Amino acid sequence: MKFVLLFLISAVVLIWLTTRFRRQINELIVAFRSNDLSSTKSKINVGKPERSFEMIKCAACGTWTPFENAALLNSVEKFCSQECVDEAIAIKKATNRY
Ligand SMILES: [Zn+2]
Repeated sequence: MKFVLLFLISAVVLIWLTTRFRRQINELIVAFRSNDLSSTKSKINVGKPERSFEMIKCAACGTWTPFENAALLNSVEKFCSQECVDEAIAIKKATNRY
């Protein structure tokens, strides 16, 4: 009977602890999962810079394109293709305000 009582008390304490620290436990689990994800992610993309996942908006046509496929006219203006770069240069020449 004593053991049953001890078991019940410890069970109650355990339940109280898990409800009391549920948020912290969840945060821990999330942190572990994100750690796993980032480690597997870095394994998949070996040698590739994180920057290549960045999406940039074409300054000429407004299309979103991955940074690695982007064409750069200067540090400010980014384009999806060489045609858009040429188009932008032509517009700049036409309006003459480069
Ligand atoms: Zn474009």
